[in-house]
Amino acid sequence: MSTRDGRSWMPGAGPEADLPCVAAITPSCNVERHTSPEPFDAIVIGAGYAGLIAARDLTTSGLKVLLLDGRDRLGGRAWSTDLDGHPFEMGGSYVSDVHRHVWREITRYQLGVKAGPERKDEQNKAILIRDGEERHASQDERNRLLRSAVMKIFNVDGAYGKLVMPTPLDEAALTVENRTAYDDMSIADRLAQLGDGLSADETAVVSSFVVMCTGSRAMDECSFYELLHWWCLCGHSPDAFFRNIGVYQLRRGQSSLARCIFDDALGSGRLAYALGTPVDAVRDGPDAATVRAGAGGRAFRARRVVCTVPLNTLRRIAFDPPLPADKLAAADTNRRNGGAKINSRCAGADLRSWTCSDPDNGLICYSYESGSAAAGTTNIVGFGQYPEGELDDAAVGERFGASIHESLRPHVKQIVFHNWSRDEYSNGSWFFPGPGLVTRYLDGLRRDHGNVLFASSDWSTGWRGFIDGAMQEGARAAAGIVKSLRVERL
Ligand SMILES: Cc1cc2nc3c(=O)[nH]c(=O)nc-3n(C[C@H](O)[C@H](O)[C@H](O)COP(=O)(O)OP(=O)(O)OC[C@H]3O[C@@H](n4cnc5c(N)ncnc54)[C@H](O)[C@@H]3O)c2cc1C
Repeated sequence: MSTRDGRSWMPGAGPEADLPCVAAITPSCNVERHTSPEPFDAIVIGAGYAGLIAARDLTTSGLKVLLLDGRDRLGGRAWSTDLDGHPFEMGGSYVSDVHRHVWREITRYQLGVKAGPERKDEQNKAILIRDGEERHASQDERNRLLRSAVMKIFNVDGAYGKLVMPTPLDEAALTVENRTAYDDMSIADRLAQLGDGLSADETAVVSSFVVMCTGSRAMDECSFYELLHWWCLCGHSPDAFFRNIGVYQLRRGQSSLARCIFDDALGSGRLAYALGTPVDAVRDGPDAATVRAGAGGRAFRARRVVCTVPLNTLRRIAFDPPLPADKLAAADTNRRNGGAKINSRCAGADLRSWTCSDPDNGLICYSYESGSAAAGTTNIVGFGQYPEGELDDAAVGERFGASIHESLRPHVKQIVFHNWSRDEYSNGSWFFPGPGLVTRYLDGLRRDHGNVLFASSDWSTGWRGFIDGAMQEGARAAAGIVKSLRVERL
């Protein structure tokens, strides 16, 4: 099973498509088997984690569901390809035990996790670059710099953010002044506030780290509130902060989890699905909605619809009645980010403690060993930004190949990536809101529109922009539908 998504590139050999993926489903569609003239109980648009959880929870609650996705695989922005028996994560990958919705699924399907980088405190393995100058530090020194910078950034109130944002899930508990003040503040504003309070080395290390958090959006386009919300979700603790956003990954890769959830739904006997079937219109009526999908514009009816498409692609579906102004404004306000995640398969295992912070690199700003590689090799994952312009895959591979740090370049055997910035079904990578978006539009994004419910990681109240947020949203939508259809049938 392979997918059209993602590319592998080897120095001198150019790009290759059709990467293996256990979440590419054969057959890609089973709709013909469902011949009942009755509408489905629910149609779920999108088979990322929000859609998969919604479809699984609905079908296992006894409801008939149709799951539609434009892609040829499950998982949306989280998927893995298997190369030489090792998963390479192309999108969302890091999980944690405080990601409670994810952890429940890992437990349910008995999947193993592995702790991330096998980094030791080796001397000179942490490369710090600032203003074109490079110096080599130990991992301990780099960690100390990052930790102290992060503590300073979040110490907005003399209590490391505990006074300003005491609880992460009850955002109403925040004073209106604090919500607005910190959401209107960008990350660049916060760094400017600190001024000389951050040393040059701290700034270099933390700037490249922030790229990984925000998907490479310019810091003046990123809400500081959102980063503070992550910090609060981690109990205002630096140890928890680093552990929860970058340590644990699934042993068999994200696509193995997506596949388990899908198989569970399919096993109920109540799931119809069609991959490679993009939705272009949703027309709602008093008792049911009609969804138009696929090349032939086929119409499907259901009592409820769960729309899980990312915020950046919401505008691609024509809704009738039209979406309310706040949903549309949020979609228009949010900019596509060009966040890139590049896996470099390197020969040799002695790079396992290697990291590089290069905030001005543009293409690859922060790289480290990702903790997943065959014996005798190392996988370095790099975060940065896709090159601007209409480049083909070969040019993207060349540009990334050339921007890898020169000490790493001779070891690189293969680069594996998914160009999210040119992906028509995500139009960008992971969600990170601009200033003001959350306080102005979060409630509106979560609101139902007639028989249509909206569920996406992009507007979760918890781990927004994470896999956990997607699962939370899928579960919320499914629970709402089960309850409302039960009431209607009484
Ligand atoms: C490079 C990268 C790294 C990340 N790292 C992490 C991480 O380490 N940890 C973490 O927790 N999160 C991470 N994330 C974020 C996480 O992957 C996402 O937040 C989460 O997977 C989103 O799930 P979702 O179901 O809300 O949306 P999606 O996964 O985007 O699912 C939406 C689905 O809708 C489909 N769709 C869109 N439009 C249409 C249409 N018109 N018709 C039919 N189908 C359509 C799409 O194909 C997609 O399958 C990362 C994301 C990326 C891209």
